[in-house]
Amino acid sequence: MGIITIERKVLEKNDELASQIRDKFKINNTFVVNIVSSPGSGKTSILERTIEKLKDKIKIAVIEGDVQTDLDAKRVERYSVPVVQIVTNGGCHLEAKLVKDALENIDLKEIRFLVIENVGNLVCPAGYDLGEDLKVLILSTTEGEDKPLKYPKMFINSSILIINKIDLLPYVDCNIENLKKNALSINPDLVVFETSCTTGEGIEKWCEWILGNIKY
Ligand code: MG
Ligand code: ZN
Repeated sequence: MGIITIERKVLEKNDELASQIRDKFKINNTFVVNIVSSPGSGKTSILERTIEKLKDKIKIAVIEGDVQTDLDAKRVERYSVPVVQIVTNGGCHLEAKLVKDALENIDLKEIRFLVIENVGNLVCPAGYDLGEDLKVLILSTTEGEDKPLKYPKMFINSSILIINKIDLLPYVDCNIENLKKNALSINPDLVVFETSCTTGEGIEKWCEWILGNIKY
């Protein structure tokens, strides 16, 4: 009982901060996505392909969340976009407070599209609002068809599902139709994209969708 109460208070505080951050994004016309996935599903690779396609069209910034190291931030930095690294030192999710601190280093007035790359984890990032417009869930074909059934909260709280590594479909035990069926049974409103960062398939469609959501 005590533990439940404490956790609720933590989340209430988080939601309060998140709504302050959301107001800030609104005022600055910045479209914000919170990218969530398990480790290794390709969040940073999708981000790299996305920045490549869009960086000459809109101003992009990135907040990179990692448990340790700034390796992903270094990958993103090569594309000459502003990137702020949050190292959680073992923490398994980002919180609004961390994002708020990171934003002190980003001039939102300039930024039309902000990507927050969350820590690789399909469990608790589902419960932490970071002030984003929506959560983008990346799931790779190597992870199996049953992930939506095992981690329903993440699928319920996400608006977009990117099924990544579709180039590996011939080699892995994953039927993409079953995977989609499972995901949509949990959340029928999910918008689904299918991508491969190796062949570039699907990246264009995903980027067009982003451009459709940018507020100028
Ligand atoms: Mg990463
Ligand atoms: Zn966590």
